[in-house]
Amino acid sequence: MEYDRIMVRFGELSTKGKNKKDFIRKLYDNIKRALKTFPRVEIEMRFDHIYVILNGQDYQPVLEILQDISGIHSLSLVHKCEKDIEIIKCDALALMQLEQFHTFKVTCKRSDKTFPLISDQILRLVAGEVLRNIKDIKVDVHHPEKTLSIEIRQEGAYLFCQTFPGAGGYPLGIGGKTMHMLSGGIDSPVAAYLMMKRGMTIECIHFASPPYTQMGVIYKLEDLLHVLNRYQGKIRLHIVPFTKIQEAIYEHADESYCITLMRRMMYRLAERLAKKRNCPVISTGESIGQVASQTLQSIHVINAVTNMPIIRPCATMDKLDIIQISEKIGTYNISIRPYEDCCTIFTPKNPKTAPDLKQVEKYEELFDWQSLIDDAINNVEVKYLTDEDQIEELL
Ligand code: ATP
Ligand code: MG
Repeated sequence: MEYDRIMVRFGELSTKGKNKKDFIRKLYDNIKRALKTFPRVEIEMRFDHIYVILNGQDYQPVLEILQDISGIHSLSLVHKCEKDIEIIKCDALALMQLEQFHTFKVTCKRSDKTFPLISDQILRLVAGEVLRNIKDIKVDVHHPEKTLSIEIRQEGAYLFCQTFPGAGGYPLGIGGKTMHMLSGGIDSPVAAYLMMKRGMTIECIHFASPPYTQMGVIYKLEDLLHVLNRYQGKIRLHIVPFTKIQEAIYEHADESYCITLMRRMMYRLAERLAKKRNCPVISTGESIGQVASQTLQSIHVINAVTNMPIIRPCATMDKLDIIQISEKIGTYNISIRPYEDCCTIFTPKNPKTAPDLKQVEKYEELFDWQSLIDDAINNVEVKYLTDEDQIEELL
């Protein structure tokens, strides 16, 4: 007796009415792509579930991949059998004989109303069979050690006793595309993950200031993106040359205003690239109050350069919560590697926490930042990070 498939549940998708079909299709495509290294595995799409049929493949590595796919609420390792009460009883017993337990209960859902027995009758018959054949066990409907679930559907009966959490959220790609500002820190990879989990694909933009910043930052970004490839197989990284802009800012503005001006330039560049690449929004790893440039007054002055929506998934999160997610998704150990970022190199001693918009605009009148921005956009370097390495690891 074996579990022959994994049942994939959609959770939040169920509330999406007429869009449901598109969602399921997207999720199906994402699952198919993620499992392409398992040639034996087949995927079956049904109205309210997707089934991953194992065909002899060990379930553990498949399950691990499925648990990272956004749009999946939960997963169960299931055994499918004929809709015949004698077969259901026999298979249920065989499955329970594989388990260690003292107390159990049986639950039943019957969505195929043509099945001759009602749920209550089915679960009583199955529980009776288990009780008669396994020693020293009893039913406990409140706190059972094992729960055997039975679902009777049109195409057959499904039996399972193990359910695993999914990543939640929406299928990747259903929410459009964001231009994500990726530094080498802890927050922005977490924000990228949260955007993807909500169904958005990402393109990343990074501002590099060679020779002040080293190639090490770029290798670090590549490593971070390889981790994020787990959620999105192909990620485009735009590396924007930022040195000249930064030098011009430091030449013309008071040191305390430099970060504010720098961040305004970053948003302008991100907006330009977002429009060029058809991204309707920009996203960042900003978190309110974390540093001088992230106070509400700073955000207001920095944000004033663009009308484009800026999504900040980490906005209200404590650093510890952000760190917890980065550890969970595997970006933390890469993020904490020491590196020189354009922000860390030029950090002023007393950055303005409440910058004055008029003053900022006065500084910006002192130099031709428009052509510096044009120049930077014309010299963007593009890299594609793909999950090829990931695939090799799995083989
Ligand atoms: P992180 O851990 O993401 O680096 P942080 O706490 O260091 O965040 P800041 O350096 O103030 O915060 O940056 C806030 C956000 O601005 C980052 O999360 C990122 O989205 C964006 N950002 C900062 N520096 C860069 C950069 N060099 N390239 C691209 N985006 C950047
Ligand atoms: Mg940073």
